[in-house]
Amino acid sequence: MALREIRKKGDEILYKKCKEVMVFDKKLAILLDDMYETMQKHDGVGLAAPQVGILKRAVVVDIGDGKIELVNPEIIKSEGSQIDQEGCLSVPGEWGNVERPNKVTVKACDRNGKSFEITGEGLLARAFCHEIDHLNGELFLDKVIKTEED
Ligand code: ZN
Repeated sequence: MALREIRKKGDEILYKKCKEVMVFDKKLAILLDDMYETMQKHDGVGLAAPQVGILKRAVVVDIGDGKIELVNPEIIKSEGSQIDQEGCLSVPGEWGNVERPNKVTVKACDRNGKSFEITGEGLLARAFCHEIDHLNGELFLDKVIKTEED
């Protein structure tokens, strides 16, 4: 495993739509391993492939309950809403309140191409939404709820 450089706000790769993963090979496995190591090193709860400069629909999430790998993830169900503070490893030093669904079910593939579904609530739902946004070239900054002081 190896650490990869995290792309920061302003890097054009973060604003591009990622391509679907078609080949589930060793290269994908290495990417996912490297992403997880990089995320842990920086105390993140999620990381998407474009954040390490790869325009593929691959995400890792770990809110403290273990590693979750999502390849070609899609939100197939969402319920409720929550507003909480969000940050991003690509946007160091900035946080903001973002509204997200309280519960989402995601359909994705694992690193071998096997399809599965996973449901997350609270922070896990937030992490899924935040990371899937990255795959569509979106940063949380565009979704921050402005307060009167702003
Ligand atoms: Zn992020």
